[in-house]
Amino acid sequence: MGRKRTCELPFCKGVVEGTRNKRRCDNDRNIHLHQIISKNVKRIMRYIEGLADFTANDVNKALFKDKLDKNEKGSMYRLFQAMIREGYITEHGKRGGLKVYAVAEQVKAKKTKISETKNSTEATETLADKITADPQKTVAVVAPTPVPPQPAMPKMSPEQILLGKLKEFVYLKNGQWNHPDWIELINRPDIKEFGLSEEDIGRILEEEKTGYWAIRNG
Ligand SMILES: [Zn+2]
Repeated sequence: MGRKRTCELPFCKGVVEGTRNKRRCDNDRNIHLHQIISKNVKRIMRYIEGLADFTANDVNKALFKDKLDKNEKGSMYRLFQAMIREGYITEHGKRGGLKVYAVAEQVKAKKTKISETKNSTEATETLADKITADPQKTVAVVAPTPVPPQPAMPKMSPEQILLGKLKEFVYLKNGQWNHPDWIELINRPDIKEFGLSEEDIGRILEEEKTGYWAIRNG
């Protein structure tokens, strides 16, 4: 059995098992995040943890000078979806047509606790740094602290996963798409694998589109 490591997404409690080149848990392995987003996950977390609530636009403005393109915004949307799945953030309706999110209360409560104990942690780190920095000293090998088992998140059903992908499609296409977009969608391996007929996919898409425009026009 391979050594267990935690998912590279800091808010994710998932575990990475097996080969060394895998960095994310099974839930996040196939989520495509543009580099500008994946490199800034911690920065985004630090920013949103200081806010009562936020939209994707708030993050785009504050951290990316409002310069994220459509695809990069899509990445941020996928990141938020993963954060919701992990219970790190929660959804709070819409504002100006955009989803409003907030960092979960229990996350904020935990952070306060951590910052209270931070001083002692820093002292330990400084000492550890000094030991490593001095080549003459023998470096003590510290056994990794066992991580207490986390309660498993409820697994999403295949229907929920597919619905999420179709919602994302409608969102990324801004509620309108052409025939090539449609052909591309129904031929995506991660859509095909659900085995749903084109009619059913089309029906769900139309429902999502209606909902999308109801909110945008509402
Ligand atoms: Zn993960």
